[in-house]
Amino acid sequence: MIYLDNAATTPVPRAVADAMYQVLTEQFGNPSSQYPMGVEMKAAVERWRAVIAGALGCKAESLYFTSCGTESDNWAIQAALWQNRHKGKHIITTAVEHSAVLEPCKWLAQQGYEITCLKPGRDGNITVEQVAAALREDTALVSMMLVNNETGCVFPVRETAALLREKNSPALLHCDAVQGFMKVDCDPEGWGVDMMSLSAHKLGGPKGIGALYIGGRMRNPRPLLPGGGQERGLRSGTEATAQIAGFAKAVELRQEHYEEKLAHMAALKEYCRAKLLDMGGVVPVGSGTAPHILAVSLVGYPSANIVTELGAQGICISAGSACHQGKASHVVSALGLDKKTAAGVIRISFSPDNTNEDVDALCVALKAHRDSRFPML
Ligand code: PLP
Repeated sequence: MIYLDNAATTPVPRAVADAMYQVLTEQFGNPSSQYPMGVEMKAAVERWRAVIAGALGCKAESLYFTSCGTESDNWAIQAALWQNRHKGKHIITTAVEHSAVLEPCKWLAQQGYEITCLKPGRDGNITVEQVAAALREDTALVSMMLVNNETGCVFPVRETAALLREKNSPALLHCDAVQGFMKVDCDPEGWGVDMMSLSAHKLGGPKGIGALYIGGRMRNPRPLLPGGGQERGLRSGTEATAQIAGFAKAVELRQEHYEEKLAHMAALKEYCRAKLLDMGGVVPVGSGTAPHILAVSLVGYPSANIVTELGAQGICISAGSACHQGKASHVVSALGLDKKTAAGVIRISFSPDNTNEDVDALCVALKAHRDSRFPML
């Protein structure tokens, strides 16, 4: 199999699975138990938290474990709106956020919140000037992703944090960094981001574990799950120790030769881009600079067919995360592409383990697909 869909999820390396197995079978104590195995696990969870916080450049006590990126996004939105409940009911976000942000926003719109969805340019980018123009006195929350999962565009999160400070705005800033963490610069504490969502399974960790960074401007954050008091009372539920161990191990592995891994992914992306554009009839989609995500369109060839046919040959790519029944995803729609270009958008996403040969095989398969079909009229 040739796996080029690492923005959807990633395989778990053996060392990560081993770390998890050890916790599941031997160090299985509940961190709340009083006997040594429990006490040891409590300390282990804190060690693992420190590993992930270290990679994010924040204090360990600012990081809270959740069950996934989606949960982190939902919690951040709720916590911000609760803190600013007397300040206003206006939310700024982008039209190309993951549904883990857009769906809660739709729900909130039905409850009287006003949502401004910033539209990207044709290049897929959002500017800080757009945020400045949308900012109001009653803006309670700005939620902006760090890296778009379909185009790889890097959004101006740092600049938005600076803008909110400069304007003395009470609006809290949440950043969904599920695709950005350990792929592009990411420094919530240094930038002054109030909350940042992470997810382990995008970087070689297991599914079912995420984290939320909560910064100092969040006074008494609203608990997501009141209960037994885990995660300093904010997110109760017995700690998912094996998943947390796997998350930390995955981060440690990614940290080894970190710069080389990023450079390798960026070089693969460039190699792939150049080869695909050389085929003719393929156009770039957006100008994403994240090293691991490449979006292009095989103009006039519906992406759902491409993905299915390549999948049958053991080559995994994606047609955009929300491509249902041939309908373009909300991200592709927001780019304002013509019908044939929008129909043909595919996403190729890399891990440090991919090779030039993977890209070569992909290009051969795409060319064969195109040569054996008629384009849409
Ligand atoms: N945010 C972004 C940008 C994503 O790409 C994803 C997953 O695809 C999520 C949030 C959701 O993360 P999880 O699968 O951990 O819930």
